[in-house]
Amino acid sequence: MTSKTLKDVRPMGRAMTDLHISEGRFVAGPVAGAEVIDCGGGLLIPGLVEAHTHLDKTLLGLPWYRNEVGPRLVDKIENERAVKTSLGLDPALQSARQVVQTVAYGTTHIRSHVDVDTEHGLAGIEGVLATREAFAGICDIEIVAFPQSAMMARPGTVELMDEALALGADVVGGLDPCGIDRDPKGQLDAVFALAEKHGKPIDIHLHERDALGAFSMEEIVSRTRAHGMGGMVTISHAFCLGMTDRAAVAILQVALAEAGIHVATTAPASAPVPAVRELRAAGIVTGAGSDGIRDTWGPYGNGDMLERAMFVGLRNNLRRDDEVELALDICTFGGARMMGLEGYGLGIGDRADCVLLEGETLAEAVALRAPRRLVLKGGTVVAENGRATVSTP
Ligand SMILES: [Zn+2]
Repeated sequence: MTSKTLKDVRPMGRAMTDLHISEGRFVAGPVAGAEVIDCGGGLLIPGLVEAHTHLDKTLLGLPWYRNEVGPRLVDKIENERAVKTSLGLDPALQSARQVVQTVAYGTTHIRSHVDVDTEHGLAGIEGVLATREAFAGICDIEIVAFPQSAMMARPGTVELMDEALALGADVVGGLDPCGIDRDPKGQLDAVFALAEKHGKPIDIHLHERDALGAFSMEEIVSRTRAHGMGGMVTISHAFCLGMTDRAAVAILQVALAEAGIHVATTAPASAPVPAVRELRAAGIVTGAGSDGIRDTWGPYGNGDMLERAMFVGLRNNLRRDDEVELALDICTFGGARMMGLEGYGLGIGDRADCVLLEGETLAEAVALRAPRRLVLKGGTVVAENGRATVSTP
């Protein structure tokens, strides 16, 4: 692996310096024979972290999909299961397309929820596992076995999730234990049992709002404590934390912080969202993600986590520079802590996963969202001037 010197770079927007890379990590001093890359005073951050997406079912690269799906959650779920068959969706190809696009935007780590259901079995898991192997060294991909179509309400799903975890999935997923399964005890007991059996963390989609979401959240808190899983459980979306009863939310946030439960937000405009400043103040680790990109749920999204930082900022009314920096921190260090990444950052000994940005300050970089000048993964150039070095399949 070649050594590199990143010359005239401003780590996190601070004073200009040179950074040195050897064996895929940042090192203290220059290495003889290192390739010198002139960074022209550009701003360097660690690789962006896509902490919540769905690689297996993007429609990127396919003809435009005309969306005429009904309004309910179950309409979208059932439509998607049918469309996967009618379009002959290939999870390996689709996930590869999204990974290449995402890398071009400077993302070096992805947590992807991947569907597991009794109709398509483990096809999604097998496809994304193949992509993870094909793109090793370009982007790290973490796979959540995700029961998109329900767990308890569709017998056989728990057994398939068990197989997915044995096959190589990294995280146990879950989904609206009340709203989808109408069996919160059944689903959450099964999720925590799988986590215990495989020694894996948990990441549960929780769209349930208000008191219903709060109930499910309390059930997740009590199981996290009982299983000693502090630091290993994430609640994605957590829309109930956006409810108007802020006194109730404050109590929930204290419980999440004490239990060591993380939150992943996508900062959607279409739903109440957790208030990221409150999460930060409560000491709750918070990551962010794009959620589904260009899929049967909706036509939006591109995988740009710098743009997601802007959405986090817009949705939370973040305007001051320190607030915009918080939004960016959620899309970098927050996601990294949520996923428990080793060696993440720009310090000596950290993995040389980083992005060179346009902008005088971090806040300006978020505001500009210019094409990424350079993206390194383990010290190797994986994208330049907004284009990945690998071609799109
Ligand atoms: Zn999702």
